[in-house]
Amino acid sequence: MMAETKSYDVGVIGGGGAGLTAALYTSRANLKTVLIEKLTSGGQIALTDIVENYPGFPSGVTGPEISMKMEEQAKRYGTEIIFEQVEQIAKKEKQFEIKTASNRYQSKAVILALGSSFRKLGVEGEKELTGHGVSYCATCDGAFFKDKSILVVGGGDSALQEGLFLTRFARKVQVIHRRDQLRAGPILQKRAEENPKIEFIWNTVVTKILGEKKVESVILKDVKTGAEKQAPAEGVFIFIGHDPNSGFLKGVVDLDEKGYVVTQGHLKTSVPGIFAAGEIRSGSTRQLIAACGEGCEAALSAQAYLEEKN
Ligand code: NAP
Repeated sequence: MMAETKSYDVGVIGGGGAGLTAALYTSRANLKTVLIEKLTSGGQIALTDIVENYPGFPSGVTGPEISMKMEEQAKRYGTEIIFEQVEQIAKKEKQFEIKTASNRYQSKAVILALGSSFRKLGVEGEKELTGHGVSYCATCDGAFFKDKSILVVGGGDSALQEGLFLTRFARKVQVIHRRDQLRAGPILQKRAEENPKIEFIWNTVVTKILGEKKVESVILKDVKTGAEKQAPAEGVFIFIGHDPNSGFLKGVVDLDEKGYVVTQGHLKTSVPGIFAAGEIRSGSTRQLIAACGEGCEAALSAQAYLEEKN
C-alpha cells in the first residue's frame, strides 16, 4: 500500500551535481525540497576516481568525496533525500505528482536532473558477461583486475581517464578506438601516451565478447579492412559515451531526437513549472562545474516561478 502523499514546494529528480546544487539553492531559499535519486548521491561523479577540473581543489578531489560533501551541504539546509526510482510525473491540478514504485510525492515545481547512463556497445556477450569481466566503472571494479590484461573501449576523456586509473591494477591496458584520432583532451592524451602500460589499437571495434563464465577473449574488427580476429582479454571496460535517463519523460516534456530534454531561457522546459539541469539537458557541456551551475540556475528559475504563482 502506498504511504500518504507528501507535499513539497520543489521536487528535484536526480542526485548528481546538478540535482544536489539545485536542492541546495531551493532549500536555502526556504522552499520545502525533496530530492529523489535512484542509486547514490553524486551520480556519475560518485563513480569517478578523481575530479581535477572543479575549481577550488588544486590537487583534485575524489568523486565519492565531493559527492558526499554536496549531499551533506544540501541536507544541512533541509533537503530531504529519498532513494527511490521515479517512474512517472504528471500534472495534477496545480501540483505535479511524482510517482515512484512505492510512493507518490507532490510538488509545485519540478527540476529534472536525471543525468545519463553509460552507453552499451550492444554486441554479443556484453550483457551476459557484465559483472564477469565486462564493466562500465573502473573505480568500482578495477581492483578485481590485478595483473590482468584488459581492454578499454572508447577514445574520449572517460576512456583515457578510466584507462589510466586501471593501470594501477592491470598488467596491460589496450585502448580500442574506432578511429585513428582520440576525442579526449590533450592532457589525458599525453598522460595515456606516456604510460608504458597503455597501448592503443586504432580503427578497431569490438564485435563480440566471448567467455564461458567470465571474459576470455573478444572479436576485434578492423574498420578499414573489415578483417576480424580473436584476441585474448581478461576484462573489457566500455566508455563510449552516454544516453539520457529520460525514458519516462516521453510525452511529459519536449525531448530532442536523442532523448535529451529541450530547454529555453532560464532552463525552462516545454511545461511551465518543470525545469531541467545538467546532463539530461539537450546541449549540456557534460562537465561537473556546468551541471552545478545549471542546478543553481534551475533552482532560481523555480523560485521565480513559485513567487509568480503565489
Ligand atoms: P565521449 O566524449 O562522447 O566519447 C565517446 C567515445 O566513444 C568517442 O571516442 C567515440 O568515438 C567512442 N564511441 C562512441 N560510440 C561508440 C561505439 N558504438 N563503438 C565504439 N566506440 C564508440 O564520451 P566520454 O568520454 O564518456 O565523455 C563524456 C563527456 O564527459 C565529455 O564531454 C568529456 O569531456 C567529459 N569528461 C571529462 C573528463 C575530464 O575532464 N577529465 C573525464 C571524463 C569525461 P568517436 O571519437 O569516433 O566519436
